[in-house]
Amino acid sequence: MINTAGGVEIEVSGTTKDIDEFVFLINKNPPSLAYITDVRVEELPFASIEGFSIEHSRGGAQRSALVSPDVCVCSDCLSECYDPGDRRFRYPFINCTNCGPRYTIIRDIPYDRPNTTMSEFVMCPRCLEEYKDPEDRRFHAQPDACWSCGPSLSLWDTRGNPMPAGDPIRKAADLLLDGRILAVKGLGGFHLAADATRNDSVTLLRTRKQRFEKPLAVMVTDVETARAFADVGPEEASLLESPQRPIVLLAKKNTRYIAEQVAPLNPNFGVLLPYTPLHYLLLDAVGKPLVMTSGNLSEEPIVAANEEAFQRLGAFVDAFLMHNRKIHQRCDDSVARVSGGKPRIIRRSRGYVPMPVFLEESTVETLATGGELKNTVCLTKENRAFVSQHIGDMENLETFELFKATIHHLESILELHPRILAHDLHPDYMTTVFAKEEEHRFEKRIAVQHHHAHIASCMGEHGLQGPVIGLAMDGTGYGEDGTVWGGEVLLAHADRYERWGHFSNLLMPGGEKAIKEPWRMAVSFLYRTFGERMRSLNLDLWRRIAEDQIDVLVQMMDKEINSPQTSSCGRLFDAVSSLLGIRDFVTYEGQAAIELEALSDFKESHEYPFDLVREKGTVILKSESLFEPLVMDLLNGVHRGTIGSRFHHTLVSAWAEFCTRAREESGINQVVLSGGVFQNRFLFETASERLACKGFEVYVHDKLPTNDACISFGQAVVANAALRASDRSG
Ligand code: ZN
Ligand code: ZN
Ligand code: FE
Repeated sequence: MINTAGGVEIEVSGTTKDIDEFVFLINKNPPSLAYITDVRVEELPFASIEGFSIEHSRGGAQRSALVSPDVCVCSDCLSECYDPGDRRFRYPFINCTNCGPRYTIIRDIPYDRPNTTMSEFVMCPRCLEEYKDPEDRRFHAQPDACWSCGPSLSLWDTRGNPMPAGDPIRKAADLLLDGRILAVKGLGGFHLAADATRNDSVTLLRTRKQRFEKPLAVMVTDVETARAFADVGPEEASLLESPQRPIVLLAKKNTRYIAEQVAPLNPNFGVLLPYTPLHYLLLDAVGKPLVMTSGNLSEEPIVAANEEAFQRLGAFVDAFLMHNRKIHQRCDDSVARVSGGKPRIIRRSRGYVPMPVFLEESTVETLATGGELKNTVCLTKENRAFVSQHIGDMENLETFELFKATIHHLESILELHPRILAHDLHPDYMTTVFAKEEEHRFEKRIAVQHHHAHIASCMGEHGLQGPVIGLAMDGTGYGEDGTVWGGEVLLAHADRYERWGHFSNLLMPGGEKAIKEPWRMAVSFLYRTFGERMRSLNLDLWRRIAEDQIDVLVQMMDKEINSPQTSSCGRLFDAVSSLLGIRDFVTYEGQAAIELEALSDFKESHEYPFDLVREKGTVILKSESLFEPLVMDLLNGVHRGTIGSRFHHTLVSAWAEFCTRAREESGINQVVLSGGVFQNRFLFETASERLACKGFEVYVHDKLPTNDACISFGQAVVANAALRASDRSG
């Protein structure tokens, strides 16, 4: 047997029957971390093979072997870790062939110790013996280590001095129990840790990090503990316990066990189980749930190196719990939830990356630079699309550096030389500017419209070529006509689309500012619906926002100064959220819509009338027409939870009506849903059901997030479909 960069080669000799059985068993019972993409069998001249041996790995010319994601500690390792008789008793870096760090420590392939950050540690004779023994469960476990030869843990103060501690974990736990904040180095980067049951610690963490409302993840020892403060169904439990160990969004239970400040005004807690032995030991020592949030400055990438941690996180924490195994690739925790009875990924990072998405057709090697928010990049090779870990919002230099480093890293570990470059249509995005600067390295550069990328991404997951009816509902994306799109009904093929319908264009007074300040969209909708008469309505909004601010906004809109047109569905949510007094200002993306969903009771399915009209060949949802009945409800004292519910139901009906008309005209029966709006569980589930009831074949994201993290993959799909189309025609 030999590990090559192209996969595993096994030479066996025996009777035809035995060999057939051998091949059958490999397919049927692969080792727990093996991912079989295909098995090829070739006949060789007969040679009698005695015993079992593994040859030295070959680098090889064609690197198509898959690099494994990081895997949570397995139960065998965990029981050794808690066995006082074991030589690795309480060793925080215990791992084996079935578990441990992978993607975050790999510098190059093939995946062998010298190509990882474990190369600095020389195996002791006992570890080496296990490593070489085919009968041992640590046989060829590259990060294998023990107390005497492997990485070690230490505690440091904020000035970078080691803190004397016989047992760094015990000491760290005592600090946490004392209400202190710690930086803890994990698998893909640092966490900021605090006692999740104490409001004072969590508030301290928020104040220091200047992160006031965005929910913080909570780590608990097991599913039972999570049940004490959140609803955990069977699907949620298996997602929590899966080897990927994502943060799982769980509905809050009415309890004061977890500090209110962990996820204020949010209907969910983000909960995860420990995934490294270090986390298990720390959690046991604390005996309570811990806040474990990414160690970073507000919008910057997660901190991964020790020196960097002292510099950047020193102001947030009281001590550092660190180790000396280097993190080569930063990787945030993944986030997922159960929706429509299945796991849905919201942030696809640690545990999932770099597993590819398999495509129906082979590709020309492509680099797609993704979107501006929740950026990921995508590289393709043959029929595999490798979507990177979460990189972040491309609004600072540090994130841009991580973006470039990730492209470089993926190109080298996958030995990929992309010939095609795909990017967003927006001329000013950092990802577009980068693409234009790098153009000379590529044979072709292709710009892809944001919402076409959304729909194509979901099509690519399901191997659809189109035509489909694509409902792309999200915040913002640059449109072909230079306006801001976001409530789009496309008739789409993988390589092209037609904007068949959309939400009406409203003004976004203040441009980008209107995204952070939903009250601006509320005024925009009110002004469109009622004109100056809006001011005579007895609305709370007028008591919250000063009159001169309203005056300025009206003038901006009258003169169309810094007020781009938008058909965004997300902005409609913002407007309703502000009108109902939920959110006039947001501190994180999607907050207004999340809190509106949380407040809506969904007890009744009454909905508002709406208009779908054809204007110059395009079907428009007059979204402002919803505002009249909505305002009347509000003035009549209808409960806000009821109004929110009616609003949600109306949207679902409007989508269904869009699709029905599009089907009548085009004969297309396949509907594809994509865009950040479908992270709203009610809308996602109700829309899928309603459309299915109307006989549509409905496709949703199963492998990638429905938010902008799927854009890079969609761009790669569109670019390759466009290439195939131009090959056919020319
Ligand atoms: Zn293990
Ligand atoms: Zn050892
Ligand atoms: Fe989007």
